[in-house]
Amino acid sequence: MKNIVSKKVFAALILILITLFVGCDSVKEDNSKINSSRIFALDTVIELSANGDNAQKAIKAAEAEIYRLEEVFSVTGENSDIYKLNNAQGKETTIESDVYILLDYAKYINTLTEGNFDVTVYPVVKEWGFTSKDYRVPDADEIKKALTYVSSENIVLKENYTVQLLNNAQVDLGGIAKGYIADKAAEAMKAVGIEYGIISLGGNIRTVGKKPSSEDFRIGIKHPDSQDYFAVISTDERSVVTSGAYQRNFTIDGKTYHHIIDPKTGYPAQSDIASVTIIGNDGALCDALSTAVFVGGSEYAEKLYSKTPDFDYVILTNDNKVIASPLLKDKLTLSEGFENLEIIYK
Ligand code: AMP
Ligand code: MG
Repeated sequence: MKNIVSKKVFAALILILITLFVGCDSVKEDNSKINSSRIFALDTVIELSANGDNAQKAIKAAEAEIYRLEEVFSVTGENSDIYKLNNAQGKETTIESDVYILLDYAKYINTLTEGNFDVTVYPVVKEWGFTSKDYRVPDADEIKKALTYVSSENIVLKENYTVQLLNNAQVDLGGIAKGYIADKAAEAMKAVGIEYGIISLGGNIRTVGKKPSSEDFRIGIKHPDSQDYFAVISTDERSVVTSGAYQRNFTIDGKTYHHIIDPKTGYPAQSDIASVTIIGNDGALCDALSTAVFVGGSEYAEKLYSKTPDFDYVILTNDNKVIASPLLKDKLTLSEGFENLEIIYK
């Protein structure tokens, strides 16, 4: 009996956790054929669901892929390739292909986003205590010093999956890895064979396969100040990734500091954005761009979109306006209770 009660309490707690931390989520449907699971990994609650004869097996395969990549990408786990690289003191290090590929991609996105996305921001992230969860406000000199190590040019990719970090650089793939892992988990599900499914890693959602009669998936975007979704996106097979200051932050002396750092200043990014959701085919790109756009602001999103329209965006500004890319016109609806928000497509 006690066991059943504690299981129920545990399930309720997990549900609360999901509502608290998830930036976007699949809108629940009543379909008893769906198999689902809930695990804790990558420092977040992960929900997987799949439909089809092999759904259970596919979910297990996706879980295994998530656990495998969690170990590879962990910035603190002493067995991870990232840890090995960050502690190599500038020596050439051979790493797993997944890490090599993602570092290469991160360098490309650093250039694409004019430095707004930079995985070498890690020494600054550490100063603020986001890695250890021992939060603190660093003084200006500490930030200045940590910033001297920040530049994606310090990541030198060599042959045979060998990497060298120059000038005391260290890397943290926390702004891109979840998107990549969600795609890999989706591939694992598909390799087993499912009809359709959804992978939710915190603010990173990946829809998989096709629903019957090509019906769209419906993904809700959480309002930063409420437990409710302010809008729902209808989409086919895609990634939907949200970044927001509300997802991780701390308050000291009445001032709140969040986890997305402007690599140019070393301080939590101050843009006009409360949350940004990026929708696209490539999970890693969506994840990195959600971080970059949060840093750059809504005008920057439009600029980036005019350069590479490989994605769509939904921005909730600090003054409660919704700005969305033009192709979302028939795909975005405001939720009940949020109908008074203004949507501007541009
Ligand atoms: P996300 O939640 O995807 O926006 O990513 C935020 C995480 O990425 C943080 O917790 C840091 O680990 C890391 N990060 C913070 N600022 C940046 C940045 N400007 N570029 C790349 N990664 C960042
Ligand atoms: Mg990101």
